[in-house]
Amino acid sequence: MDILSHGLWGSIIFGRKNRRSFQLGFAFGIAPDLCSFGILLFSRLWQSLMTGTWSVGSGKPDLLDIPPYVSSLYNFTHSFVVFAVAFALAWTIFKRPIWEMLAWPFHIFLDLFTHSTSFFPTPYLWPFSFVPIDGIPWSTPIIFFTNAFFLALLYIVYFYRKKKYGIR
Ligand SMILES: [Zn+2]
Repeated sequence: MDILSHGLWGSIIFGRKNRRSFQLGFAFGIAPDLCSFGILLFSRLWQSLMTGTWSVGSGKPDLLDIPPYVSSLYNFTHSFVVFAVAFALAWTIFKRPIWEMLAWPFHIFLDLFTHSTSFFPTPYLWPFSFVPIDGIPWSTPIIFFTNAFFLALLYIVYFYRKKKYGIR
């Protein structure tokens, strides 16, 4: 799924308590992609700024152009195993579960079915072996617009109920 949708799903499902919770849900929703592809994007932007050449590219990047560190980070941030460890760690540190963190496994769950095996299949059990799931790419119009429709619907209902009844 695209990164903005991940953030919006994270907020609307796990961050309805207050503004801070909303932001936290958004942050955990986008974190898996921000901490992998986001770093590549920022480094390419930085390179472009420094050299004065535009090399960010557009559309789907070529697999050969993607540095190995991005794949390693992608494995790390798209694993239910890593999430479980991080969630338990945060629970120990803050002495309570941080429910907004669940936007992270929800991101992995969405990616499982919206990435094909040809381009970054979701390594959901990394570092253990896993059977890749061949999903339908999120850029396919049916997936893209269905996702946008449900997100828009949820946000309209959310803001309507909040305005009318003060319900979150
Ligand atoms: Zn992702």
